[in-house]
Amino acid sequence: MKQSRIKMNVLDSVKRQSNFEEVACGFTLDESKLEASRCLDCKNPRCVDACPVHIDIPKFIKEILSNDIENAYFTLYNDNILPAICGRVCPQEKQCEGACILNVKGESVSIGALERYLGDYALSNDLVKEETISNNGIKIAVVGSGPSGISNAASMRRLGYDVTVYEALHEYGGVLKYGIPDFRLPKTIVEQEINKVKDLGVKFEKNVLIGKSITIDQLKEDYDYKAVFIGSGAGLPSALNIAGENFSGVYYANEFLTRVNLMKSRDFPHNPTPVKIGSNVAVVGGGNVAMDAARTAKRLGAKNVFILYRRDMESLPARLEEIHHAIEEDIDFRLLRNPVEFIGENYIVKRVKCEIMELGEKDSSGRRRPMPTGNYITFDIDSCIISIGQKPNPILKKSTLDLETDKWGRIVVNDFQTSIPGVFAGGDVVSGAATVILAMGAGKDASIYMDKYIKNLQ
Ligand SMILES: Cc1cc2nc3c(=O)[nH]c(=O)nc-3n(C[C@H](O)[C@H](O)[C@H](O)COP(=O)(O)OP(=O)(O)OC[C@H]3O[C@@H](n4cnc5c(N)ncnc54)[C@H](O)[C@@H]3O)c2cc1C
Repeated sequence: MKQSRIKMNVLDSVKRQSNFEEVACGFTLDESKLEASRCLDCKNPRCVDACPVHIDIPKFIKEILSNDIENAYFTLYNDNILPAICGRVCPQEKQCEGACILNVKGESVSIGALERYLGDYALSNDLVKEETISNNGIKIAVVGSGPSGISNAASMRRLGYDVTVYEALHEYGGVLKYGIPDFRLPKTIVEQEINKVKDLGVKFEKNVLIGKSITIDQLKEDYDYKAVFIGSGAGLPSALNIAGENFSGVYYANEFLTRVNLMKSRDFPHNPTPVKIGSNVAVVGGGNVAMDAARTAKRLGAKNVFILYRRDMESLPARLEEIHHAIEEDIDFRLLRNPVEFIGENYIVKRVKCEIMELGEKDSSGRRRPMPTGNYITFDIDSCIISIGQKPNPILKKSTLDLETDKWGRIVVNDFQTSIPGVFAGGDVVSGAATVILAMGAGKDASIYMDKYIKNLQ
Protein backbone atom coordinates (compact mmCIF):
# COMPACT_ATOMS: atom_id res chain seq x y z
CA MET A 1 0.00 0.00 0.00
CA LYS A 2 1.21 3.48 -0.85
CA GLN A 3 2.36 5.57 2.12
CA SER A 4 0.29 8.75 2.43
CA ARG A 5 1.87 12.08 3.41
CA ILE A 6 2.65 12.21 7.13
CA LYS A 7 0.74 14.94 8.94
CA MET A 8 2.76 16.90 11.46
CA ASN A 9 1.35 17.07 15.01
CA VAL A 10 0.25 20.52 16.12
CA LEU A 11 -0.78 21.98 19.48
CA ASP A 12 -4.47 22.00 20.35
CA SER A 13 -6.06 24.88 18.43
CA VAL A 14 -7.90 26.30 21.46
CA LYS A 15 -5.21 25.92 24.13
CA ARG A 16 -2.50 27.39 21.94
CA GLN A 17 -4.39 30.69 21.57
CA SER A 18 -3.40 31.63 25.11
CA ASN A 19 0.34 31.11 24.72
CA PHE A 20 3.23 31.69 22.31
CA GLU A 21 4.43 28.07 22.19
CA GLU A 22 5.41 26.71 18.80
CA VAL A 23 2.31 25.35 17.07
CA ALA A 24 3.87 22.81 14.69
CA CYS A 25 5.62 20.05 16.65
CA GLY A 26 7.98 18.69 13.98
CA PHE A 27 8.55 15.10 12.82
CA THR A 28 10.08 12.27 14.84
CA LEU A 29 12.84 10.17 13.25
CA ASP A 30 10.35 7.42 12.37
CA GLU A 31 7.97 9.93 10.79
CA SER A 32 10.86 11.47 8.86
CA LYS A 33 11.89 8.08 7.50
CA LEU A 34 8.33 7.19 6.52
CA GLU A 35 7.94 10.53 4.77
CA ALA A 36 11.34 10.12 3.10
CA SER A 37 10.19 6.74 1.79
CA ARG A 38 7.59 8.53 -0.35
CA CYS A 39 10.24 10.24 -2.50
CA LEU A 40 10.38 8.77 -6.01
CA ASP A 41 14.04 9.83 -6.44
CA CYS A 42 13.24 11.34 -9.85
CA LYS A 43 15.89 11.32 -12.56
CA ASN A 44 15.40 15.05 -13.09
CA PRO A 45 14.42 16.27 -9.64
CA ARG A 46 12.23 19.32 -10.17
CA CYS A 47 12.33 20.11 -6.44
CA VAL A 48 16.02 21.06 -6.72
CA ASP A 49 15.38 23.52 -9.55
CA ALA A 50 12.45 25.01 -7.64
CA CYS A 51 14.57 25.62 -4.54
CA PRO A 52 16.08 29.13 -4.69
CA VAL A 53 19.38 27.80 -3.25
CA HIS A 54 19.26 24.46 -5.12
CA ILE A 55 19.60 22.14 -2.13
CA ASP A 56 20.32 18.54 -3.15
CA ILE A 57 16.95 17.41 -1.80
CA PRO A 58 16.91 13.85 -3.20
CA LYS A 59 20.36 13.20 -1.68
CA PHE A 60 19.42 14.24 1.85
CA ILE A 61 16.13 12.34 1.58
CA LYS A 62 18.01 9.16 0.61
CA GLU A 63 20.39 9.70 3.52
CA ILE A 64 17.46 10.03 5.94
CA LEU A 65 16.04 6.82 4.53
CA SER A 66 19.29 4.98 5.17
CA ASN A 67 19.42 6.42 8.72
CA ASP A 68 22.52 8.48 7.90
CA ILE A 69 21.13 11.57 9.63
CA GLU A 70 24.46 13.34 10.11
CA ASN A 71 25.35 13.25 6.42
CA ALA A 72 21.78 14.15 5.50
CA TYR A 73 22.22 17.29 7.62
CA PHE A 74 25.61 18.09 6.05
CA THR A 75 24.13 17.71 2.55
CA LEU A 76 21.46 20.23 3.51
CA TYR A 77 23.84 22.56 5.34
CA ASN A 78 26.11 22.75 2.26
CA ASP A 79 23.53 24.93 0.53
CA ASN A 80 21.57 26.34 3.44
CA ILE A 81 23.19 27.57 6.64
CA LEU A 82 19.85 28.13 8.41
CA PRO A 83 17.95 24.85 7.84
CA ALA A 84 16.03 24.82 11.14
CA ILE A 85 14.68 28.26 10.19
CA CYS A 86 13.93 27.58 6.52
CA GLY A 87 12.29 24.24 7.40
CA ARG A 88 9.80 26.28 9.44
CA VAL A 89 9.15 29.38 7.35
CA CYS A 90 9.88 28.75 3.65
CA PRO A 91 6.81 28.82 1.39
CA GLN A 92 7.57 25.23 0.33
CA GLU A 93 4.25 24.81 -1.45
CA LYS A 94 5.38 27.47 -3.93
CA GLN A 95 8.94 26.13 -4.20
CA CYS A 96 10.34 22.60 -3.72
CA GLU A 97 7.07 20.94 -2.69
CA GLY A 98 5.15 22.79 -5.37
CA ALA A 99 7.37 21.20 -8.01
CA CYS A 100 7.27 17.65 -6.56
CA ILE A 101 6.00 15.14 -9.11
CA LEU A 102 3.78 13.48 -6.48
CA ASN A 103 1.50 16.53 -6.68
CA VAL A 104 0.20 15.25 -10.00
CA LYS A 105 -1.77 12.43 -8.41
CA GLY A 106 -1.66 13.25 -4.73
CA GLU A 107 0.42 15.15 -2.22
CA SER A 108 4.05 16.18 -2.46
CA VAL A 109 6.79 14.91 -0.16
CA SER A 110 6.85 17.06 2.99
CA ILE A 111 10.31 18.42 2.18
CA GLY A 112 10.06 21.37 4.60
CA ALA A 113 9.29 19.08 7.53
CA LEU A 114 12.29 16.86 6.66
CA GLU A 115 14.51 19.93 6.45
CA ARG A 116 13.28 21.07 9.84
CA TYR A 117 13.91 17.61 11.31
CA LEU A 118 17.55 17.70 10.17
CA GLY A 119 18.07 21.32 11.29
CA ASP A 120 16.65 20.55 14.75
CA TYR A 121 18.64 17.31 15.00
CA ALA A 122 21.87 19.23 14.35
CA LEU A 123 21.02 21.88 16.95
CA SER A 124 20.06 19.43 19.66
CA ASN A 125 23.07 17.18 18.98
CA ASP A 126 25.63 20.00 18.54
CA LEU A 127 26.42 18.69 15.10
CA VAL A 128 29.13 20.90 13.63
CA LYS A 129 30.60 20.63 10.16
CA GLU A 130 34.40 20.52 10.33
CA GLU A 131 35.59 23.42 8.20
CA THR A 132 39.06 24.77 7.66
CA ILE A 133 38.81 28.50 7.16
CA SER A 134 41.86 30.50 6.19
CA ASN A 135 42.38 34.13 7.24
CA ASN A 136 43.31 36.62 4.54
CA GLY A 137 42.98 39.59 6.95
CA ILE A 138 40.86 41.61 4.52
CA LYS A 139 38.02 43.42 6.30
CA ILE A 140 34.39 43.23 5.15
CA ALA A 141 31.41 45.00 6.70
CA VAL A 142 27.86 43.70 6.54
CA VAL A 143 24.96 46.04 7.31
CA GLY A 144 22.06 44.17 8.93
CA SER A 145 21.84 40.76 10.60
CA GLY A 146 18.77 39.42 8.80
CA PRO A 147 18.91 36.35 6.53
CA SER A 148 20.68 38.19 3.69
CA GLY A 149 23.35 39.68 5.97
CA ILE A 150 23.94 36.44 7.86
CA SER A 151 24.21 34.42 4.69
CA ASN A 152 26.61 36.94 3.11
CA ALA A 153 28.71 37.09 6.28
CA ALA A 154 29.01 33.29 6.48
CA SER A 155 29.92 32.98 2.79
CA MET A 156 32.55 35.76 2.98
CA ARG A 157 34.01 34.28 6.14
CA ARG A 158 34.32 30.88 4.46
CA LEU A 159 36.31 32.62 1.72
CA GLY A 160 38.74 33.77 4.41
CA TYR A 161 37.59 37.37 5.02
CA ASP A 162 37.51 39.16 8.35
CA VAL A 163 33.77 39.90 8.55
CA THR A 164 31.87 42.20 10.93
CA VAL A 165 28.07 42.43 10.91
CA TYR A 166 26.59 45.75 12.11
CA GLU A 167 23.03 45.58 13.44
CA ALA A 168 20.89 48.59 14.33
CA LEU A 169 18.74 46.72 16.87
CA HIS A 170 19.79 45.18 20.17
CA GLU A 171 19.28 41.62 18.92
CA TYR A 172 20.44 39.79 15.80
CA GLY A 173 18.30 38.08 13.18
CA GLY A 174 16.26 40.83 11.50
CA VAL A 175 12.68 39.79 10.78
CA LEU A 176 13.45 36.33 12.13
CA LYS A 177 13.73 37.98 15.55
CA TYR A 178 11.50 41.03 15.54
CA GLY A 179 8.83 39.96 13.03
CA ILE A 180 8.03 36.25 12.94
CA PRO A 181 6.45 35.26 16.28
CA ASP A 182 7.67 32.45 18.53
CA PHE A 183 4.62 30.29 17.84
CA ARG A 184 6.03 29.89 14.32
CA LEU A 185 9.74 30.32 14.87
CA PRO A 186 11.07 30.08 18.44
CA LYS A 187 13.74 32.67 19.12
CA THR A 188 16.02 30.05 20.69
CA ILE A 189 16.23 28.41 17.25
CA VAL A 190 17.23 31.72 15.64
CA GLU A 191 19.88 32.29 18.30
CA GLN A 192 21.31 28.78 17.95
CA GLU A 193 21.51 29.11 14.17
CA ILE A 194 23.23 32.52 14.45
CA ASN A 195 25.68 31.09 17.00
CA LYS A 196 26.86 28.67 14.32
CA VAL A 197 27.74 31.68 12.14
CA LYS A 198 29.59 33.26 15.08
CA ASP A 199 31.49 29.98 15.46
CA LEU A 200 32.78 30.42 11.90
CA GLY A 201 34.50 33.56 13.21
CA VAL A 202 32.06 36.22 12.02
CA LYS A 203 32.00 39.21 14.41
CA PHE A 204 28.73 40.93 15.35
CA GLU A 205 28.16 44.48 16.64
CA LYS A 206 24.70 45.52 17.80
CA ASN A 207 23.10 48.94 18.37
CA VAL A 208 24.97 50.43 15.40
CA LEU A 209 22.74 52.23 12.93
CA ILE A 210 24.76 52.51 9.76
CA GLY A 211 23.92 55.85 8.16
CA LYS A 212 23.72 57.54 11.58
CA SER A 213 26.28 56.01 13.99
CA ILE A 214 28.74 55.36 11.14
CA THR A 215 28.23 56.22 7.48
CA ILE A 216 28.95 53.91 4.57
CA ASP A 217 31.76 56.28 3.49
CA GLN A 218 33.32 56.03 6.97
CA LEU A 219 33.15 52.24 6.88
CA LYS A 220 35.24 52.31 3.72
CA GLU A 221 37.58 55.21 4.46
CA ASP A 222 38.04 55.30 8.25
CA TYR A 223 37.43 51.65 9.13
CA ASP A 224 39.27 50.21 6.13
CA TYR A 225 36.56 47.82 4.98
CA LYS A 226 37.46 46.73 1.46
CA ALA A 227 33.84 45.90 0.62
CA VAL A 228 30.45 46.43 2.25
CA PHE A 229 27.30 44.33 1.90
CA ILE A 230 24.00 46.09 2.63
CA GLY A 231 21.29 43.69 3.82
CA SER A 232 19.18 46.23 5.66
CA GLY A 233 15.82 44.76 4.63
CA ALA A 234 12.47 46.44 4.10
CA GLY A 235 11.40 47.56 7.53
CA LEU A 236 9.36 50.64 6.65
CA PRO A 237 5.62 49.85 6.62
CA SER A 238 3.43 50.92 3.72
CA ALA A 239 0.50 53.12 4.70
CA LEU A 240 -3.11 52.88 3.53
CA ASN A 241 -3.16 56.68 3.24
CA ILE A 242 -6.76 56.98 4.35
CA ALA A 243 -8.53 59.33 6.78
CA GLY A 244 -8.09 58.44 10.47
CA GLU A 245 -4.93 56.38 10.00
CA ASN A 246 -3.29 58.54 12.68
CA PHE A 247 -5.88 57.63 15.35
CA SER A 248 -4.83 55.90 18.52
CA GLY A 249 -5.42 52.17 18.10
CA VAL A 250 -4.19 52.04 14.51
CA TYR A 251 -0.87 50.20 14.26
CA TYR A 252 1.45 49.03 11.52
CA ALA A 253 2.26 45.32 11.74
CA ASN A 254 6.02 45.85 11.96
CA GLU A 255 5.63 48.18 14.92
CA PHE A 256 3.09 45.88 16.58
CA LEU A 257 5.12 42.68 16.08
CA THR A 258 8.38 44.36 17.12
CA ARG A 259 6.76 45.52 20.33
CA VAL A 260 5.36 42.08 21.06
CA ASN A 261 8.42 40.02 20.03
CA LEU A 262 11.49 42.16 20.60
CA MET A 263 10.20 44.45 23.36
CA LYS A 264 8.43 41.44 24.95
CA SER A 265 5.08 43.15 25.48
CA ARG A 266 3.53 39.69 25.35
CA ASP A 267 5.00 39.25 28.86
CA PHE A 268 3.29 42.38 30.20
CA PRO A 269 3.18 43.20 33.16
CA HIS A 270 6.53 41.38 33.68
CA ASN A 271 7.86 43.60 30.89
CA PRO A 272 6.66 47.20 31.04
CA THR A 273 5.82 47.47 27.34
CA PRO A 274 2.03 47.03 26.96
CA VAL A 275 0.26 47.09 23.61
CA LYS A 276 -3.41 47.98 23.93
CA ILE A 277 -5.53 46.25 21.31
CA GLY A 278 -8.93 45.63 22.96
CA SER A 279 -11.47 42.95 21.98
CA ASN A 280 -12.23 43.61 18.32
CA VAL A 281 -9.15 43.72 16.16
CA ALA A 282 -9.07 44.21 12.41
CA VAL A 283 -5.96 43.21 10.47
CA VAL A 284 -5.59 44.61 6.97
CA GLY A 285 -3.74 42.42 4.45
CA GLY A 286 -3.41 38.78 3.42
CA GLY A 287 0.29 37.90 3.61
CA ASN A 288 2.41 36.14 6.24
CA VAL A 289 2.75 39.41 8.14
CA ALA A 290 -1.03 39.79 8.38
CA MET A 291 -1.45 36.18 9.57
CA ASP A 292 1.28 36.71 12.19
CA ALA A 293 -0.33 39.94 13.39
CA ALA A 294 -3.81 38.37 13.60
CA ARG A 295 -2.64 35.26 15.46
CA THR A 296 -0.54 37.40 17.79
CA ALA A 297 -3.55 39.63 18.56
CA LYS A 298 -5.51 36.49 19.54
CA ARG A 299 -2.75 35.46 21.90
CA LEU A 300 -2.76 38.91 23.50
CA GLY A 301 -6.40 38.31 24.45
CA ALA A 302 -8.47 39.83 21.61
CA LYS A 303 -11.87 38.08 21.33
CA ASN A 304 -12.64 38.79 17.68
CA VAL A 305 -9.84 39.09 15.21
CA PHE A 306 -10.70 39.53 11.58
CA ILE A 307 -8.70 39.89 8.41
CA LEU A 308 -9.79 42.54 5.94
CA TYR A 309 -8.57 41.53 2.51
CA ARG A 310 -9.51 43.07 -0.81
CA ARG A 311 -9.34 39.84 -2.82
CA ASP A 312 -10.67 36.30 -2.24
CA MET A 313 -9.38 33.35 -0.21
CA GLU A 314 -7.52 31.78 -3.17
CA SER A 315 -5.52 34.97 -3.69
CA LEU A 316 -4.13 35.19 -0.14
CA PRO A 317 -0.33 35.38 -0.52
CA ALA A 318 0.45 33.90 2.93
CA ARG A 319 1.91 30.40 3.35
CA LEU A 320 -0.86 27.77 3.23
CA GLU A 321 0.08 26.44 6.65
CA GLU A 322 -0.31 29.90 8.22
CA ILE A 323 -3.75 30.39 6.65
CA HIS A 324 -4.78 26.95 7.84
CA HIS A 325 -3.55 27.61 11.39
CA ALA A 326 -5.23 31.03 11.42
CA ILE A 327 -8.57 29.44 10.47
CA GLU A 328 -8.14 26.82 13.21
CA GLU A 329 -7.57 29.69 15.66
CA ASP A 330 -10.90 31.31 14.74
CA ILE A 331 -9.46 34.19 12.79
CA ASP A 332 -12.34 35.48 10.71
CA PHE A 333 -11.66 36.25 7.04
CA ARG A 334 -13.74 39.17 5.75
CA LEU A 335 -12.88 39.00 2.09
CA LEU A 336 -13.35 41.53 -0.72
CA ARG A 337 -13.21 44.34 1.85
CA ASN A 338 -11.00 47.37 1.28
CA PRO A 339 -10.65 49.91 4.14
CA VAL A 340 -11.34 53.48 3.02
CA GLU A 341 -11.67 55.37 6.32
CA PHE A 342 -11.15 55.01 10.06
CA ILE A 343 -13.87 56.59 12.15
CA GLY A 344 -12.91 57.68 15.67
CA GLU A 345 -13.93 59.58 18.74
CA ASN A 346 -11.42 61.90 20.43
CA TYR A 347 -8.76 60.54 18.08
CA ILE A 348 -9.35 56.95 19.24
CA VAL A 349 -10.36 54.53 16.49
CA LYS A 350 -13.88 53.10 16.81
CA ARG A 351 -14.85 51.84 13.38
CA VAL A 352 -13.40 51.02 10.00
CA LYS A 353 -15.35 51.74 6.84
CA CYS A 354 -14.66 49.36 3.94
CA GLU A 355 -15.61 49.38 0.31
CA ILE A 356 -17.00 46.07 -0.89
CA MET A 357 -14.90 44.81 -3.80
CA GLU A 358 -15.47 42.34 -6.61
CA LEU A 359 -12.92 40.53 -8.73
CA GLY A 360 -12.19 41.65 -12.28
CA GLU A 361 -9.69 40.51 -14.90
CA LYS A 362 -6.29 39.07 -13.96
CA ASP A 363 -3.55 41.63 -13.28
CA SER A 364 0.24 41.38 -13.72
CA SER A 365 0.50 39.26 -10.53
CA GLY A 366 -1.71 36.62 -12.19
CA ARG A 367 -4.46 37.20 -9.65
CA ARG A 368 -7.87 38.71 -10.41
CA ARG A 369 -7.84 42.46 -9.82
CA PRO A 370 -10.05 43.77 -6.98
CA MET A 371 -12.60 46.26 -8.34
CA PRO A 372 -14.60 48.79 -6.29
CA THR A 373 -18.38 48.32 -6.27
CA GLY A 374 -19.39 51.66 -4.70
CA ASN A 375 -21.03 49.79 -1.78
CA TYR A 376 -19.70 50.12 1.76
CA ILE A 377 -19.78 48.28 5.07
CA THR A 378 -18.59 49.45 8.50
CA PHE A 379 -17.14 47.32 11.31
CA ASP A 380 -16.77 48.24 15.00
CA ILE A 381 -13.14 47.90 16.11
CA ASP A 382 -10.94 48.64 19.12
CA SER A 383 -7.78 48.52 17.07
CA CYS A 384 -6.49 47.87 13.59
CA ILE A 385 -3.16 46.44 12.46
CA ILE A 386 -2.13 47.41 8.94
CA SER A 387 -0.05 44.78 7.08
CA ILE A 388 -0.10 45.74 3.43
CA GLY A 389 3.63 45.67 2.71
CA GLN A 390 7.01 47.11 3.61
CA LYS A 391 9.62 49.26 1.90
CA PRO A 392 13.30 49.88 2.65
CA ASN A 393 14.04 52.44 5.31
CA PRO A 394 15.42 55.66 3.70
CA ILE A 395 18.11 56.27 6.39
CA LEU A 396 20.97 54.79 4.35
CA LYS A 397 20.02 56.66 1.22
CA LYS A 398 19.80 59.98 3.13
CA SER A 399 23.35 59.64 4.44
CA THR A 400 24.78 58.14 1.24
CA LEU A 401 23.70 60.43 -1.56
CA ASP A 402 25.55 58.48 -4.28
CA LEU A 403 23.55 55.34 -3.49
CA GLU A 404 21.10 54.87 -6.34
CA THR A 405 17.60 53.77 -5.38
CA ASP A 406 14.40 53.34 -7.38
CA LYS A 407 11.07 55.08 -6.80
CA TRP A 408 10.16 52.53 -4.09
CA GLY A 409 13.41 53.21 -2.25
CA ARG A 410 14.97 49.86 -3.23
CA ILE A 411 18.71 49.88 -3.83
CA VAL A 412 19.57 49.49 -7.50
CA VAL A 413 22.26 46.86 -8.16
CA ASN A 414 24.15 45.36 -11.05
CA ASP A 415 25.51 41.90 -10.18
CA PHE A 416 24.79 42.84 -6.56
CA GLN A 417 27.03 45.92 -6.77
CA THR A 418 25.36 49.25 -6.00
CA SER A 419 26.14 52.56 -7.69
CA ILE A 420 29.06 52.89 -5.24
CA PRO A 421 32.10 50.73 -6.14
CA GLY A 422 32.78 48.15 -3.44
CA VAL A 423 29.33 48.50 -1.90
CA PHE A 424 27.05 45.55 -2.59
CA ALA A 425 23.46 44.86 -1.57
CA GLY A 426 20.88 42.06 -1.51
CA GLY A 427 17.73 40.75 0.14
CA ASP A 428 14.59 42.79 0.76
CA VAL A 429 16.44 46.12 0.43
CA VAL A 430 16.93 45.27 -3.26
CA SER A 431 13.94 43.08 -4.09
CA GLY A 432 11.35 44.67 -1.80
CA ALA A 433 9.61 42.49 0.80
CA ALA A 434 10.18 38.86 -0.29
CA THR A 435 11.19 35.67 1.52
CA VAL A 436 13.85 34.36 3.87
CA ILE A 437 15.34 31.93 1.37
CA LEU A 438 15.50 34.52 -1.43
CA ALA A 439 17.29 36.93 0.93
CA MET A 440 19.72 34.17 1.92
CA GLY A 441 20.31 33.27 -1.72
CA ALA A 442 21.09 36.92 -2.52
CA GLY A 443 23.56 37.19 0.38
CA LYS A 444 25.34 34.05 -0.75
CA ASP A 445 25.45 34.97 -4.46
CA ALA A 446 26.65 38.51 -3.66
CA SER A 447 29.69 37.03 -1.90
CA ILE A 448 30.94 35.65 -5.24
CA TYR A 449 30.90 39.14 -6.78
CA MET A 450 32.43 40.73 -3.67
CA ASP A 451 35.28 38.24 -3.72
CA LYS A 452 35.88 38.94 -7.43
CA TYR A 453 35.81 42.70 -6.81
CA ILE A 454 38.39 42.48 -4.01
CA LYS A 455 40.67 40.16 -6.00
CA ASN A 456 40.63 42.68 -8.86
CA LEU A 457 41.82 45.41 -6.46
CA GLN A 458 44.94 43.45 -5.62
C1 LIG B 1 6.10 39.39 10.15
C2 LIG B 1 6.80 38.79 8.97
C3 LIG B 1 6.61 37.46 8.68
C4 LIG B 1 7.28 36.89 7.61
N1 LIG B 1 7.09 35.55 7.37
C5 LIG B 1 7.82 34.95 6.41
C6 LIG B 1 7.71 33.55 6.19
O1 LIG B 1 6.94 32.85 6.83
N2 LIG B 1 8.50 33.00 5.24
C7 LIG B 1 9.38 33.72 4.51
O2 LIG B 1 10.12 33.15 3.70
N3 LIG B 1 9.48 35.06 4.66
C8 LIG B 1 8.72 35.68 5.60
N4 LIG B 1 8.83 37.03 5.77
C9 LIG B 1 9.75 37.79 4.90
C10 LIG B 1 11.20 37.59 5.33
O3 LIG B 1 11.31 37.59 6.72
C11 LIG B 1 12.10 38.64 4.70
O4 LIG B 1 11.97 38.53 3.29
C12 LIG B 1 13.57 38.45 5.10
O5 LIG B 1 13.71 38.52 6.50
C13 LIG B 1 14.44 39.51 4.43
O6 LIG B 1 15.75 39.38 4.90
P1 LIG B 1 16.75 40.62 4.87
O7 LIG B 1 18.03 40.12 5.43
O8 LIG B 1 16.77 41.21 3.52
O9 LIG B 1 16.11 41.72 5.83
P2 LIG B 1 15.63 41.72 7.35
O10 LIG B 1 15.25 40.38 7.83
O11 LIG B 1 14.62 42.80 7.41
O12 LIG B 1 16.93 42.17 8.14
C14 LIG B 1 17.47 43.45 7.98
C15 LIG B 1 18.26 43.81 9.23
O13 LIG B 1 19.00 45.00 8.96
C16 LIG B 1 18.91 45.85 10.09
N5 LIG B 1 19.14 47.21 9.62
C17 LIG B 1 18.31 47.98 8.85
N6 LIG B 1 18.89 49.17 8.60
C18 LIG B 1 20.09 49.16 9.22
C19 LIG B 1 21.13 50.11 9.34
N7 LIG B 1 21.03 51.30 8.73
N8 LIG B 1 22.22 49.80 10.08
C20 LIG B 1 22.32 48.58 10.69
N9 LIG B 1 21.36 47.64 10.61
C21 LIG B 1 20.26 47.92 9.89
C22 LIG B 1 17.51 45.61 10.60
O14 LIG B 1 17.39 46.02 11.97
C23 LIG B 1 17.38 44.11 10.43
O15 LIG B 1 17.87 43.42 11.55
C24 LIG B 1 8.14 37.66 6.81
C25 LIG B 1 8.30 39.02 7.07
C26 LIG B 1 7.65 39.59 8.14
C27 LIG B 1 7.85 41.06 8.43
